[in-house]
Amino acid sequence: MKLVLASNNAHKAREFREILAPLGIEVITQGEAGCRLEVDETGETFEENAYLKAAAAMSATGEAAVSDDSGLEVDALGGAPGVHSARYTGRHEDTDADRRALLLKNLAGEEHRDARFVSAICCVFPNGDTLRSRGTCEGSIAWSEAGENGFGYDSLFIPEGEDRTMAQLSADEKNAISQRGQALREFSRILKEYCNADK
Ligand code: IMP
Repeated sequence: MKLVLASNNAHKAREFREILAPLGIEVITQGEAGCRLEVDETGETFEENAYLKAAAAMSATGEAAVSDDSGLEVDALGGAPGVHSARYTGRHEDTDADRRALLLKNLAGEEHRDARFVSAICCVFPNGDTLRSRGTCEGSIAWSEAGENGFGYDSLFIPEGEDRTMAQLSADEKNAISQRGQALREFSRILKEYCNADK
């Protein structure tokens, strides 16, 4: 089975392939499929935004398209940055490092640092059928950055039961516990059910 990934994020594409290739699902990015979409993420939930991105990529390519909308929810910040994780500083030109710096600043002196990563996966087929899954990874926000792997907020996120940040884990270790790993394994299960029901 081949799916178009509705994302321009190379880190996400790598994780999709690491997790889905062993499950027999081939992923090509929307760029590789010949379109570079920038979808306005106007939804109020991860699920709404995931649908917007997958539906746009399916319309543009005519192929089944899958997306991930994800982010970090920090309890002491009322769930922020949440769906705004990629735009937390409000400035398009800012980097992941700028967003991590803002997060640390907003949590300065805060002892309650519980947080979770969330990933909502959505797959839209040319006939309009839609499959969805969701994964979460509980943890807490470190007092300072550590680690070079991963992307986004990984160097500030310590998964529950770990003493290392997500950015100090290998790719296999991250994929085994991450929100995206969990959501994609569930997605692969429902995709197989969907394909078998078709026969
Ligand atoms: P979006 O899903 O493209 O709207 O962006 C999600 C944003 O959440 C990313 O730009 C990262 O800042 C953050 N994020 C999502 N998944 C991860 C992850 O696995 N590790 C670290 N940060 C993540």
